[in-house]
Amino acid sequence: MYVADTIAAISTALGESAIGIVRLSGEDAIKIANSIYQGKDLSQVDSHTIHYGHIIKPQTAQIVDEVMVSVMRAPRTYTRENVVEINCHGGVVAVQRILEATLDAGARLAEPGEFSKRAFLNGRIDLSQAEAVMDLIQAKTNKAMDASLDQLQGSLSHKITSLRQRMLDTLAQVEVTIDYPEYDDVEELSTQELQQTAELVQKEIQAIMHQAQSGRLFREGIQTAIIGRPNVGKSSLLNALTGFEKAIVTNIEGTTRDTIEEYVNVRGVPLKLIDTAGIRQSDDIVEQIGVEKSKKAMDAADLIILLLNQAEALTDTDRELLELTKDQTRIILLNKQDLAPVLKLDDLRPYADQEEIIQTSMLNESGLDALEAQIETKFFSGNIESKDVNYLLNTRHTQLLKQAIQALTEVLEGTELGLPVDLIQIDFTRAWDLLGEITGESVQDELIDKLFSQFCLGK
Ligand code: GDP
Ligand code: ZN
Repeated sequence: MYVADTIAAISTALGESAIGIVRLSGEDAIKIANSIYQGKDLSQVDSHTIHYGHIIKPQTAQIVDEVMVSVMRAPRTYTRENVVEINCHGGVVAVQRILEATLDAGARLAEPGEFSKRAFLNGRIDLSQAEAVMDLIQAKTNKAMDASLDQLQGSLSHKITSLRQRMLDTLAQVEVTIDYPEYDDVEELSTQELQQTAELVQKEIQAIMHQAQSGRLFREGIQTAIIGRPNVGKSSLLNALTGFEKAIVTNIEGTTRDTIEEYVNVRGVPLKLIDTAGIRQSDDIVEQIGVEKSKKAMDAADLIILLLNQAEALTDTDRELLELTKDQTRIILLNKQDLAPVLKLDDLRPYADQEEIIQTSMLNESGLDALEAQIETKFFSGNIESKDVNYLLNTRHTQLLKQAIQALTEVLEGTELGLPVDLIQIDFTRAWDLLGEITGESVQDELIDKLFSQFCLGK
């Protein structure tokens, strides 16, 4: 059973900021806040109102901070429980002290993601929306942010729900057949209906997955490997790229202790510069670990930027790299245009038939616009920007969608083989169930706990 005790957490980012917010949610949220608040009687105020006053230590009446307190009564709140938000002065100390005061007064420190978990458990949001909250917290660029917001409002849920509704209609018709097996042609019609719906749903799922691929790229960043033999200008390019949007460049500690991922934002496209042997120390993948081993990094990349030096003739390494990357999404740069030309565009045609080759000089910073433009068109050429295609799927969604496609394939094979309708119906129902797991209509508690524990504290 789910016990709704009252939880509290700091819901603004820790550190220097003008204000901080401590949030309480649960049956006793207002009562607890009232016991440490001096100003007026919060139990008497209207819902969704905000009040000036002080947080005090009840025993000594000593003032902790000057605050604005928002009171929001269930059910019209984020968690559908009573919610109180205490806006106080920013900075670590003030918010910590207020949080402590709420805990002393009977609240329990929230687990990471517990507010969103409650919102889910109380039916306020479904699972894919909850996951979108998590994405929102982690969104790396504005476009990723939009996609998360979109999903929060339920674009994926709506899509899945409408597909499931359609499947349910079909299942209802099939039930009729099973109830009245004496009508032969009804069975045939049912099989047809199952087949048509299965085909349609399968197509729709494939479309979602296709569109979501762009979504994934937005959320996680486009894995980009900068390659080329030593001294062609890789470090210079990296510096130029990270210089595009200094403010948005972040160093994110990776999962392993000493990996650093560089995120840069190129015209709204988030690039995650792949750290193979530590981009920071040395970007020279080829130099460091040899062509063979750098293959791996290249395979993992969504995008490869291959640099060549136009002041020198093509070398074997250049040729090898051109060959190795020919089937991947790549951009070829012919760098050092400021020096006397040796390597000509025509010399490259055997290795890069129709591809646009960008002439750059990292020294003069020329050609970078063309590079930016090419990165942009490569990833916006789909309809990524159109609103309703911004699904962000995580691994769990993708797994479920794949399984659903598989189950539907079995439905289609069944109809082809002329299997009895009640057998086909089993796979069809399984697909319906799997889709339900995306929106959380059939998820187990364990999964819920796991998902919500990934949230930041205070969300
Ligand atoms: P990496 O070994 O591929 O990372 O190459 P670096 O970026 O470290 O560059 C090697 C050398 O080439 C440095 O001295 C750079 O200043 C120089 N360099 C890089 N790009 C250009 C360019 O476009 N023109 C000229 N003239 N020199 C460049
Ligand atoms: Zn370098």
